[in-house]
Amino acid sequence: MIRKLLQKVFKRKKTADTVSDSLLQLCAIPVKRHGIHRNQINSCALKITQELQKAGFSAFVVGGAVRDLLLGLEPKDFDVATNATPEQVRSAFRRSRIIGRRFRLVHVMCGLETVEVSTFRGPSPDNAHPLEVNGITDQHGRLLHDNVFGSQEEDAIRRDFTMNALYYDPATEEIHDYLNGYEDIRCRTLRIIGEPVSRYREDPVRMLRAVRLAAKLGLQMDAKTAQPIGDLASLLQNVPAARLFDEMLKLLLSGHSLACVVDLRARGLHHGLLPMLDIILEQPLGERFITLALKDTDERVLQNRPVSPAFLFASLLWHEVLANWNRYKEDGEKPSVALYKAMDNVLAKQQKNLAIPRRFSATIQEIWIMQPRFESRAGRGPFRLISHPRFRAAYDFMLLRAESGETGVEIASWWKDFLSANQEQRDKMIQTLSSPAKKRRKRNRRKSAIDKIDVAEKTAS
Ligand code: ATP
Ligand code: MG
Repeated sequence: MIRKLLQKVFKRKKTADTVSDSLLQLCAIPVKRHGIHRNQINSCALKITQELQKAGFSAFVVGGAVRDLLLGLEPKDFDVATNATPEQVRSAFRRSRIIGRRFRLVHVMCGLETVEVSTFRGPSPDNAHPLEVNGITDQHGRLLHDNVFGSQEEDAIRRDFTMNALYYDPATEEIHDYLNGYEDIRCRTLRIIGEPVSRYREDPVRMLRAVRLAAKLGLQMDAKTAQPIGDLASLLQNVPAARLFDEMLKLLLSGHSLACVVDLRARGLHHGLLPMLDIILEQPLGERFITLALKDTDERVLQNRPVSPAFLFASLLWHEVLANWNRYKEDGEKPSVALYKAMDNVLAKQQKNLAIPRRFSATIQEIWIMQPRFESRAGRGPFRLISHPRFRAAYDFMLLRAESGETGVEIASWWKDFLSANQEQRDKMIQTLSSPAKKRRKRNRRKSAIDKIDVAEKTAS
């Protein structure tokens, strides 16, 4: 039965055999073995499964939440899967709405919380080879629609990794496992469901998910799951920009961004995402800066402190901006003009790969533009700078630059003192700083006046 089902889902007998040979049949794991009790399930997800079951549907907590609970981690969110259609779910809950096009699902709201409820998915209706252009997949085998409903078993097979295909029934406290995901979790193995190449072709984002989940959860990628990733990296170019950006952001905000970026680079996946990474990481200063920025981000995420995506992308691209900025200055541009040109250049290059939404790119530019202003501290400049709405981000960025060795630590410590000083002390700090500059300006004025007199005398004689 499982073999037939897999054949139907994966179309090709060879693929189905590969899957069924290495995977187990349906297994209902009792609570005394897995140890997850219904009181560990979030109340909104619990209420949704109860209501749907009361209405005669089956409903389970599924995906990342079950996986994380089994790994002893606190789930980020709880997703529900059911055999009720999106319309049936929508009419069962007053505060709900249907979302998505490629993948229609329902958002059910309880208080401030939202739980995603998806209907079991089945195989695509056509019997085409995954590489055929048929309206369901594109010419690279990417699934364009995934709205065919199916049974729970079919739904399990369409998920990405075995450990993400576990169904927890809060009523019985049993876990339904069709693909040996429970054992994979125990062995800490990340294993893609089905034939890896066609699953990555169907949805190249699964490669990014593999990197993120392995790094975040400390898992070993199974060899067949890992092997084709490098060769298929170019498929990421066909994924819509907004989805790619969302996935990349999830990866960078996973609390393990450094490990993820190192792994992306090792597998050659960064080419379609952050192509400049190779160049930047080749120089020790660039590598040090990015490592510090990502480490800092990871610490913030793990301490539940806010992280700004703009700051992250500003950091990832900064050394490329610096290189361009220097090049334009060497070509004779004024420093300020050179900086604007460098920023435009780097952002335009980046847009061709991983398009950064406009709401972030404006802040990224502000952070970069403010950097030279930390150095020229004369007059009212520092006061104007601290009243800028993005000052804090730009200041943290400057501290990172100093820590990485790119700028002098004396500027960073001057700013630290300036921020902790009172108004009177701040005025004094600026006066002290301005005095040599003022003297220099006076001297220059006097010198140019003397020069003018000399020229006038020479002309007269
Ligand atoms: P987390 O929420 O911790 O990032 P998750 O696994 O819950 O991890 P979601 O994006 O919330 O990730 O997806 C929920 C579930 O949907 C997954 O566990 C998986 O079963 C399924 N899923 C998500 N993305 C894909 C995909 N690209 N292909 C197949 N199944 C997917
Ligand atoms: Mg999730």
